[in-house]
Amino acid sequence: MTNLRRCVVGAEERVGTRRLGPATYVNLDHAASTPPLQAALDALMEAVRWYANVHRGSGFKSRWTTQRFEAARERLVAFVHADAASQALVFVRNTTEAVNHIARRVPIPPGHVVIVTDMEHHSNDLPWRRVAPVVRVGVRPDGRVDEAELRDLLHRHAGRVAVLAASGASNVTGWVNPVHRWAAWAHAAGARIVVDAAQLAPHRPLDVRSASDPEHLDVLAFSGHKLYAPFGAGVLVAPRAILGAGDPAEVGGGTVDAVGRDHVVWAGLPDREEAGTPVILGAIALAAAVDAIETVGWPTIAAQECVLTERALAGLGNARGVTVYGGQDADTGRLGVIAFNVDSVPHGKAAAILGDEWGIGTRSGCFCAHPYVQALLGIDGPGARALADRVVAGEKRGLPGMVRASIGLSSTVEDIDRFVAGVGAIAGGEHDDYAEDAGGEWA
Ligand code: PMP
Repeated sequence: MTNLRRCVVGAEERVGTRRLGPATYVNLDHAASTPPLQAALDALMEAVRWYANVHRGSGFKSRWTTQRFEAARERLVAFVHADAASQALVFVRNTTEAVNHIARRVPIPPGHVVIVTDMEHHSNDLPWRRVAPVVRVGVRPDGRVDEAELRDLLHRHAGRVAVLAASGASNVTGWVNPVHRWAAWAHAAGARIVVDAAQLAPHRPLDVRSASDPEHLDVLAFSGHKLYAPFGAGVLVAPRAILGAGDPAEVGGGTVDAVGRDHVVWAGLPDREEAGTPVILGAIALAAAVDAIETVGWPTIAAQECVLTERALAGLGNARGVTVYGGQDADTGRLGVIAFNVDSVPHGKAAAILGDEWGIGTRSGCFCAHPYVQALLGIDGPGARALADRVVAGEKRGLPGMVRASIGLSSTVEDIDRFVAGVGAIAGGEHDDYAEDAGGEWA
């Protein structure tokens, strides 16, 4: 296996554990956020020395920073294979901001709906509920989006679908969606496709493509902090025809060419959509991160992840009393994002044991994808409502959920083996005593 770990900052940090004594921390929480690549940190450290605000500054530092910031934009346009003539790339803070931004700008004529899959993270679900009637596509028992239902909905609402909102890959089960196929279906129904690539971006190449390709993606959103550049920048790619029309999403400094007491002339793209001072250093670091990733190469990254995912799934499959949600096989149709439960142990407790006793960072709960986790756990509508009532009443103990282990560039065979050993021990009842507080935290 290639030693990608060397490129990741902090991969060798050690922590105290109750079972193993001091041990190298095992990070299996990449789906939440990734550590920086050394290349991203180096670019950041260089940029802080020459830092000044972008645009209009006449000094050397301002011109240097402006040049690097705009070069970062071009680098990201190339990274996602966008068509710069018809699409704009604007820097935002994160995927959530990107989807909210486009939800406010995309035209939704009266009578039109937005189709959202039940797999979506809340960030590609709730912004749409605010701006349009939402029609939901269900998922199958294995967690994959029901493509027959999607086709049927697109057909039934053809000509009245403004947007199909879909994730590039799930942050729960790691399923990779065939978004280009769906793009062609959406376009045939007169809709645009908005792809939340927060999880896909760190694992697989992105390919927006030119608008003349029926399988092109209209809108793409992702976050730098999940792409090994956790310095505050995210990306929104969207048609110039949308972002350049009407008033900007947010207005103020940087969005205008001229302002009088009673008139405003909006600036061109991308400035009009980057209100205020942008996340300059984050964007520069993100460009360096994607450079480094492409230098390693996607085939290497995907192959390594596949080997580790296979090892983890095989290990969990051999452990008694462990349920894995979603696909049970490792292949390129899924990411190394693995949701599971130890049947006899609450998810929060299992994650706490992995952290405290084994030095392994995972995450537990519903991962900001409540409808999806409910579907995977077989919780129906009234059941979900009853859970919400419990939360409102302040009772957060015993809420359903899962544990999630997510593989990244620093992950190794040793990491996976410790993880599998830890889960096996938990399933076998080998662990200390833990208690859950009223907030649902285990300690
Ligand atoms: N979509 C998906 C699929 C995600 O995994 C996440 C982060 N968990 C988001 C959106 C939101 O990303 P951010 O917090 O960077 O806005």
